[in-house]
Formats: sequence, C-alpha cells, structure tokens
Amino acid sequence: MNNLTPSDLDHLIACPGCDLLLPDITAGEGEVISCRRCRTELHRHRKDSIDRTVALCLAGLLLYFPAMLLPLMTVETLGISETANIIQSAAGYYRQGFNFVAGTVLLAAILFPLLKLSLGFAVAISVKLGKSPRILPTLFRSYIHLEEWAMVEIYLLGIMVTVIKMYHMTTITYGLGFYCFLALVMVMVGTTACLDRKLFWARIERREENLSSNGEEETGPDLGVKAVTARNAGLVACDICHRLTVLSAEAAGHAVSCSFCGAGLHIRKADSIGRTWALILTAAMLFIPANTLPIMHVNYLGQPTNSTILDGIILFFQEGSFGIGLIILAASILVPLFKITGLLIILLTIRFRQGVFLQQTARMFRFIEFIGRWSMLDIFVIAILSVLVQFGLFTSIQAAPAATYFCLVVILTMLATQTFDARLLWDNCFTPSSEKS
Ligand SMILES: [Zn+2]
Ligand SMILES: [Zn+2]
Repeated sequence: MNNLTPSDLDHLIACPGCDLLLPDITAGEGEVISCRRCRTELHRHRKDSIDRTVALCLAGLLLYFPAMLLPLMTVETLGISETANIIQSAAGYYRQGFNFVAGTVLLAAILFPLLKLSLGFAVAISVKLGKSPRILPTLFRSYIHLEEWAMVEIYLLGIMVTVIKMYHMTTITYGLGFYCFLALVMVMVGTTACLDRKLFWARIERREENLSSNGEEETGPDLGVKAVTARNAGLVACDICHRLTVLSAEAAGHAVSCSFCGAGLHIRKADSIGRTWALILTAAMLFIPANTLPIMHVNYLGQPTNSTILDGIILFFQEGSFGIGLIILAASILVPLFKITGLLIILLTIRFRQGVFLQQTARMFRFIEFIGRWSMLDIFVIAILSVLVQFGLFTSIQAAPAATYFCLVVILTMLATQTFDARLLWDNCFTPSSEKS
C-alpha cells in the first residue's frame, strides 16, 4: 500500500472505530455513512448545519446567565421556604466539605456548558463569515473535547428527580431560572444534533469543494475488497479532525502533532490496554464504598438517618414512583456495573484474541461511551436536595461520603472509555473469517 499519492489522502478516511481505510464519502440528505467493518457512524447529513449552530449557540449564550443565576425553584413547607439556583447547588457541596464533588458539579453543570457555547459560537460564526484565523482549529478541537463533559441535560433530569422526590412533602414553585434552564438544555441538545463536524473541518480548512456527495465519489484510490488499515498503509489518522498523515520512518516513535488541528497523533493510544485496566479496576474497587456507604444524611424531626444509593431507590419503589426508581437504579447502579463489566469483557476479548462477535463487541463499546455520563445523575440530585431541603429542625438533607466515591467511579469509567483505543479490538482479534460473523 505504498502507492498512495498525497491527493489520494484527501479522498480517504480511516474509520475511527477500527482504522479501516475507506473512501471519504459525504452523506447526502437523510443518509448516514457507516464503516462496513465495525459499523461506526462516519458521517450523517445535518441540514443547514452552520446557520443553525450559529443561531443555537447565540440563543444558548443569551439564556445562559438567567438560567444559572435566577432561582430554579422555591420549596415551602410549614411556612419555611428555600430557594436555589444552579450555582448555589455546586456551592452546597463545597460548604459541606465535598470539594472534589463541588468542583465536578461546577465544571460539568456550569463552566463547561458556557465554554462549549462560547467556543461553538466563535467557530460557527467564523465559518459562516468565511474567516479562518489560525486559532480556529484549536478552538474547534477544544469544543469537541468538551462535548461529553458539559452535562446540562443530565442536570435537568436531576431537577425532575428532585421534584418527584419532594412533591409529597413540600409546595414547589418553579422560578424563571427553571424555564430558562429548560430552554438552555433544549438549545444545547439541538447544537449537538445540528453540528456537522466533517463540514466544519472542511470549511475551517477551506476545502469544502472536495466534499462531494455520495455516489459522485469515484476519484479515490482503489482499495480493493481487502481490509487495509491506515496503520498498514503507513498512515496515522487524527482522533479529532480525522485528517490522515503519512508517518515517515523517522517520525515513528516520536511525539507528532496533527499539522492541521494540533492534536497529538498516535497510531494507537499509548498504553491504552494497561491504562484502561488500571482505571477500570480502580473504578470497580471504588464502586463498593460508593454503594455501601451512605450517600446522604437525612435529618427528619431531629432523627438522623443515613441513606445509601440503594436505600433511595427502595424508597421510590415504596412510594410507588416506579418510573423514577427505575431511572435512578439504571443510572446509579446498572450503568456503572455495565460499564465496568463491558470494558472488562472487551479487554479480555483482546487478551484472548477472540475473533467472534466483533461487530457486537464494538457496538457495546460505543454504547458504553454513550451512556457513561448519565451516571452523574445522583450527584446532581443530591446537589439540589442538599440546598433546597434545609428546613431547620423539621427536615434537612446533607451529602455523605459515598458522594465522593461515586463521583470518582463515574469520572474514572468515563476516562477509561476515552483511554481505550477501540481499534485495538480489530488489530488483535480480526481475521478475514470474522468478517462473516
Ligand atoms: Zn470501522
Ligand atoms: Zn487533527
């Protein structure tokens, strides 16, 4: 595969999921292009991506400050009322001495969303106006890194859970901040759905003329039917902008950056397997105190009780709130367990070079990547509860040690999926016969 010319590289893409070299096809309206080997989605058409991203990011920036600063809701019981906004909910953990959890909530619910909207707006408006300042690839790269860590939609679910938890015992009045936050979440979800990364990179690079639609792409090199990976062809694909770079012999083994977006290039993520093992095993160990220690202290009429995650779920079931009980059960217990066992299965598959059900295993990994962040739900619920439920002697709620362990489990498993290099599954286990499985 040394017969690739530089212009061939513009017509090729290496699948981020399995490293297979494929013709770089742009999806037309209503189309989705997926890798034929691992089924990773390579491109999906998004209508009016640039205009919509500009509009949504601008709307998000306008909504952001009212959503964060205005009161979310007021709860009242026995003539005592408490009001909270989102910033206070992060401060609640800090006041109770849970600095690590407070920092996580501050970043995930407050700072990263603002940064994501600002970067998204800056990139989209530059692309829209046809401007390409040198810093633009770096800005867009930072935006992509933030996608997963800005968690407003999970926080919104946390607010819903809190409301259901409290509506028997208190009167809840929604503040203007709640409606602004609801709108902010819809705008941010919309931004993610509208943004066409491939189109943005092409515009930033000013090579949109190369973006041809499905079916017109006949100029790429003939790769035949054989599975040729970027690595076998002496190429390395950027994880962020997907640009292919020829890896010369002297560059191999040295730290090389993507000439376009500046991200570090690596044929495979360094020590991926060892690091993923370490992160997963640590997460599995911390999962035990996260579930056996109390996650909150409830003081009801002078009687202090400790409540673990499972106690909270059982309480929902006893009160007849099955739906919400199931959501918490899924987010707090099933998802972390599924992530840990799923990644262990994948690591063992690689260890023992099992070549069967590779497509299904790859799909499981993408699912683990997708659901990971939703486990943060309980952390947000306690953040809101511990600020809102402060009715003096009558009842009060405080966070307890398991909150820190649980927060660590979520972050470690998210880092484990980021550290794991899905392409290793195909490197180690794929044989032409497993293509049929
Ligand atoms: Zn693939
Ligand atoms: Zn790059």
